[in-house]
Amino acid sequence: MIKIGRSSSTIRKYEDRSNKKKNPYTDINGKYIAESHRLGYCHNKIHTGFLNHKQIKEHECTKKNCPYFNKYEDHPFWIEKKKRKEAKKNDK
Ligand SMILES: [Zn+2]
Repeated sequence: MIKIGRSSSTIRKYEDRSNKKKNPYTDINGKYIAESHRLGYCHNKIHTGFLNHKQIKEHECTKKNCPYFNKYEDHPFWIEKKKRKEAKKNDK
């Protein structure tokens, strides 16, 4: 008797999810940015994302008063900066 066995192995189709979940914590270059480095967020469509100190300087967000830029005023970096500025003022 010849048994025509059916392969019982189930072929699982692994769904290839090419559309990865967008990392919500990305900088303007699309790279992950640590919380301590997130000094602000730019909502400009061409480069939406968080910005670190260097990127803010390069982008001149604070200088240009970019309307899309959301500065995280309560970040220790800005608080320190403010303090230093005020200390300078009081020096005069
Ligand atoms: Zn911007």
